Amino acid sequence: MTQRKLALVTIIGKPNAGKSTLLNHLIGQKIAIVTPKVQTTRSSVTGIVSTGDTQLVFIDTPGIFRAKTSFEKAMVRCAWSNIVGADSVIFLVDSKKGFDDESVEILDKLKQHNIKPIIAINKIDDRNSKKDSIMKQLSNLEQDFTIFPISALRGDNIDELIKFITDNAKEKEWLYDEDALTNLPERFIASEITREQLFLQMQQELPYKLTVESESWEILKDGSVKISQVIIVSRQNYKAMILGNKGERIKNIGTKAREEIAKALDIKPHLFLFVKVREDWDTNPLNYKYLGLKWKK
Ligand code: GDP
Ligand code: MG
Repeated sequence: MTQRKLALVTIIGKPNAGKSTLLNHLIGQKIAIVTPKVQTTRSSVTGIVSTGDTQLVFIDTPGIFRAKTSFEKAMVRCAWSNIVGADSVIFLVDSKKGFDDESVEILDKLKQHNIKPIIAINKIDDRNSKKDSIMKQLSNLEQDFTIFPISALRGDNIDELIKFITDNAKEKEWLYDEDALTNLPERFIASEITREQLFLQMQQELPYKLTVESESWEILKDGSVKISQVIIVSRQNYKAMILGNKGERIKNIGTKAREEIAKALDIKPHLFLFVKVREDWDTNPLNYKYLGLKWKK
């Protein structure tokens, strides 16, 4: 029997670079939520691709940025903590934005960790992509890395990226079953999808400090699933905003979330949403634990 191969790959980058889009594309199914807003991904999400002898385990992380609040710092810490033990690190760059000082800082930090990253220059499909100038800028750096210009959205050059990682995978036992796609429980994916709808359907007014928990998950006789979720916000007026006039807004959010949950998990859900106010939301260590983040004062 040939020895199996494994590669643990962490995807890092600034908020909105397209990390979650890339993860979903890589595994061919939606497991990480994607929105045009920053800080959508809060804790790490694992996606698994097993082909032939090789298993690739990708870890999507919260964005790396100059964090201010303790909650933001926990997210950034979470992103960096995932590079420890990784076989490869993909540093995803939004080519619409260019390669700025913050990106240089990230590269420096990778160098300090003795990591030779794969720099994936994303969104090359966009006509505002500054791919060429980024490539030029990178060619002037002393550091050792491999570059892939890609489109996570359209899939350009993703096969080449997968091939490169597969070719560099080491002989090691697999971590997950052959048919596993993610390490996330279905109920977590379901609550993330509702959070995604909240982001998408509520414009600027939405506090990003909000969380959704699946409280109960009951499989009914006909095979459908009764899901109750609680949306937790830090202030009373946020609750009113989410409910909307005569509950109109939460109804729309629930309808769309139910459709998306049905598609993503291939189940028939009945979704019940509740909104609760918990004032200490972002300072309560219990909430961090739920999100898979570490609390630190
Ligand atoms: P993350 O914060 O790094 O996880 O970024 P997301 O995956 O949530 O994506 C942020 C935004 O960029 C979303 O609106 C995506 O649709 C968009 N996006 C991601 N990849 C691409 C791409 O290859 N091309 C274009 N044009 N947009 C992309
Ligand atoms: Mg993300």
